[in-house]
Amino acid sequence: MLDGAALVANWQAFATCGAAEAGAAIKADGYGLGARDVLLRLAAAGCQTFYVAHWQEVPPLLPLPAGVTLSVLHGVTPDEMEAALALPAVPVLISAAQVALWRQTGRPCEAMVDTGMNRLGLAPETAADVLAGMDVAVLHSHLACTEDATHPMNAAQRVCFADVAARVPAHRYALANSAGAALGAAFHFDLIRPGIGLYGGGLLPDGRPAHTVARMVARVLQVRDVPVGASVGYGATFVAARPSRIATVALGYADGYARGLSNAGWALADGVRCPAAGRISMDLAAFDVTEAAGVAEGDWLEIPFDPEAMAQASGRTSYELLVALGQRFERLWQ
Ligand SMILES: *Cc1c(COP(=O)(O)O)cnc(C)c1O
Repeated sequence: MLDGAALVANWQAFATCGAAEAGAAIKADGYGLGARDVLLRLAAAGCQTFYVAHWQEVPPLLPLPAGVTLSVLHGVTPDEMEAALALPAVPVLISAAQVALWRQTGRPCEAMVDTGMNRLGLAPETAADVLAGMDVAVLHSHLACTEDATHPMNAAQRVCFADVAARVPAHRYALANSAGAALGAAFHFDLIRPGIGLYGGGLLPDGRPAHTVARMVARVLQVRDVPVGASVGYGATFVAARPSRIATVALGYADGYARGLSNAGWALADGVRCPAAGRISMDLAAFDVTEAAGVAEGDWLEIPFDPEAMAQASGRTSYELLVALGQRFERLWQ
């Protein structure tokens, strides 16, 4: 179950955190939630600028609503040129070779400059020469260390990007992801590119936790009484310390309910927190519903998907948990 109002509220927090426009990163199928639905909902709320990573992600998003632009963060390779020319999206060019390739089309582009992450992008020293004569709609860079607001790399990258922006003509400049937006207006330039914050991970620029967008709802297949000393699940890692009622639920790591949540996750039944009992397996998870007496076979259990709380419990990141949401879940928007 997906909360469209929470998604929009998260985006609005980015859109109003400063003077910069807020776009949206919707790569990896909208961080697992469904890129097409995310795009339509955010476009209806006023978002006009969307980012995916691959050209293969573009066709399922078509037709684009009026006024919306879509850009491809990995740029374009020779074998992708045909698709790129046929599709209504713009490459974010990441190398001099890509710029040379795209130059032949005479079309506008976006471009990425590397300001210290050493992952993708043009070298700051040569970017002006490489891009000379190109119509650059947006010049980007990307921050490496925004999870730590005090990391010296943040300021160093900002200074480097401001210097590049002063030398490389573009219609607009963009540096910040979700956590980068919280570093303050000096990091915003013209356009920010939030991703995780839209989907309920991390903090909004004003310091509040992002609104949780997703919750899992899964069916109770069986309820059983387990005596003291009996175990539950693979490896017998849960042993009942009291006479327990255990609900076995149709939810597993194939659905994105991470194995790291074994004996660490929780479900909610009538508001009662029911801890995961034993290992999460591929298709099944067990929850201790002793305190929620009403749970019966055939019931639907709610598993809140607060990405940061689950990240902490599972040892994975909120990003990994979201993009792993399984295809067996019907994505129902409310
Ligand atoms: C994925 C991505 C973002 C969004 O990052 P979040 O940390 O999810 O906000 C922004 N910019 C680029 C270049 C990205 O690849």
